[in-house]
Parts: sequence; structure tokens; C-alpha cells
Amino acid sequence: MKTLVTGGAGFVGSHLVDHLLRLGDEVVVLDDLSTGSARNLAAAAENPRLEMVHGSILNTQTVRTAMQSCDRVFHLAAAVGVKLIVEQPLRGLRINIHGTENVLTAAIEARASVLMLSTSEVYGKNTADKLREDSDRILGDPLLSRWTYAGAKGIDEAFAKAYCDEEGLDVAIVRLFNTVGPRQTGRYGMVLPNLVGQALRGEPLTVFGDGLQTRCFSAVEDVVPALELIERDPRALGEAYNLGGAREISILELASEIITTLNSPSAVEMVPYAQAYAAGFEDMRRRVPDNTKAHDLVGYEPRTSLSTTIVRVADDLLARERLGSDAMPLARTGAVRGVN
Ligand code: UDP
Repeated sequence: MKTLVTGGAGFVGSHLVDHLLRLGDEVVVLDDLSTGSARNLAAAAENPRLEMVHGSILNTQTVRTAMQSCDRVFHLAAAVGVKLIVEQPLRGLRINIHGTENVLTAAIEARASVLMLSTSEVYGKNTADKLREDSDRILGDPLLSRWTYAGAKGIDEAFAKAYCDEEGLDVAIVRLFNTVGPRQTGRYGMVLPNLVGQALRGEPLTVFGDGLQTRCFSAVEDVVPALELIERDPRALGEAYNLGGAREISILELASEIITTLNSPSAVEMVPYAQAYAAGFEDMRRRVPDNTKAHDLVGYEPRTSLSTTIVRVADDLLARERLGSDAMPLARTGAVRGVN
């Protein structure tokens, strides 16, 4: 099996590449290394079955070349992270809409099947007890840059479905809910690695808004095998699947769990949204997945506890600092006693 992973040097992408190599696939990674990092593929790079293509999904020829003789494609390349999207909406729209269409059309030409990664952001402000794949989307003003990500990903899903129905593309969609784990960086605003880094440095943990907004964090180790199983299941054709965590937790609770787990001397600092992002920023109050559909299809179950993930992320941040790739001075004593 020859498999293309767009965005394969990113956080989720690199874990997927490791998994596919373990399964015996030949893997081609297409990544522009804008938010991903070659370091994420350091172990995989030793494997002769890995080929790295440095380029953008915005370049149609690059996409076609990377996809040559591939049987399947995992499309993860995207502009992600609320902070990045709010700061550079145009870049996000271009990559997430034009780039995705390039990947989908190239897959039709190459007769490759596709698993397209989408996001729980598509549900917007829907605070339902459990979001099912057919739940309504509740989005804010399209002129607010925050909503461009949900808008673009919704268009991507509509493209995927239309190419499936009208042009025979073999495609399935997965909506990830706050996937966390080693290699995720806080640089683009993601809360868990950001707060873990702050806790390790002994800095205040920045909790935005009133901190009562909730999320269901899912571990990358649980999500990645499910991606592969969904991709090769013929029943997934033209369908979307949620993959999220089981435990709903507020950001304030997350901050105290990180402080306790890492035995950190840090305090919590409440930061108004207007200061954290920009005036008029709208956050999602609550985002809870119903994972039943993926459970029924491939047996998906979120198993890894949040405290295990916190320790793994802390270990990873410390290891990266030792290797000198992420310039952040982390505390080596006291704060990290709980980690090793
Ligand atoms: N958040 C926070 N402190 C941070 C970064 C994020 O309180 O340093 C909040 C953010 O406002 C949101 C939640 O944590 O309510 C999750 O943010 P993230 O960007 O990780 O994911 P998303 O908003 O896409 O769920």
C-alpha cells in the first residue's frame, strides 16, 4: 500500500506517518513545513519506506507529483489553530479551500481514496449535550475572522461530498475534537501544550475568558489508529465521523489539573478574550462529541487519560528543549518532579 499524507510533518500527521510505517505502508509526506516540523519525523526519516516532498498543497503540480502511484491519501495539511486563523484569515482560507480542492481533484485523477480531516469547529456555537455528525451548525458573522476556519472546513466537506456523489471520489471525513499529545506546539494557541509549557516554566497559566468554557480532549494515540481503520472501511464512503474525547472539562479545571499533575508552582491568570485574541472574539462555550458513529464503525474508544497526556506532553516539551529545537527555557527542578 502506498499512502500520501498531506501535512505529514505536523502534530497529528507525524503520528499517523509513524503508525502507517508500522503497518508496512510506503508513505509519501507532502508538507510545506510552515507549522509542521521535520523534527516530528526524525524517527520516521530513518525508514527507507518514507519519502518526503517539501511543498504546498496550493501548487497543483506538486500535489499531482506527490500523489503519483499512491493508493490512498490522508489529507491533513491545513492552516490550523484559532490564533493563526484569526491573525491570517486570508492564508487560512486559501490553504483550507483551494489547497483541499487541489488534493481532491488530484485524487480523482490518481484514482486514490481519501480520508479528509475536518474539525469540530464546523459545529460552531452548537452547545448540544452530544454533537452528532448530523447536528446543526451555528456559526457567527462571516466577517469575523474567527469563523473563517469553520466556514472553510464546511466548504471542504461539501466539496468532498459533491466529488464523491458526482465524480465517484472514494472519500470519508473525520472531524477531530481538540486532539492533544506529544509534538503539539502551543505556538499557534492550542491550550494544552501552551498551559503545560507555562506550568513547566513556572509562569502563570493563561486562562481566557471566564475559564468555564469546556472541551473534550482526545489523545492522538487513540485517534490515529481510528483514522486508518475508517479510511479503509468501505462503509465510510461519503460519511463524516466525530473523533473526540470522553471527558468534558472546563479550561479552568484543565489548568488546575496541569498544575497538580506536574507539581508546578504556577498560578492561574485570567485573561480577557479581547486581550488574548482581538476585540469581538467569540469563543465556543462547549463542545462535546457523540463518538457513537466511529465506535460502531471501527470500535473507536478514547482510552488515554488526560493526566497521562499532560505528562507525555511535558516530557516531549522537555526533550525538545534538550535538543534545542524549541527555544523555551523550561524549569528543570521542582516544577517537573511529577513528570519523570
Ligand atoms: N485557551 C486558554 N488559554 C490559552 C489558549 C487557549 O484559555 O492559553 C482557551 C481558548 O480560548 C478556548 C480553549 O482554551 O476556549 C481551547 O482553545 P484551543 O485553541 O486549544 O482550541 P479550540 O478553541 O479550537 O477548541
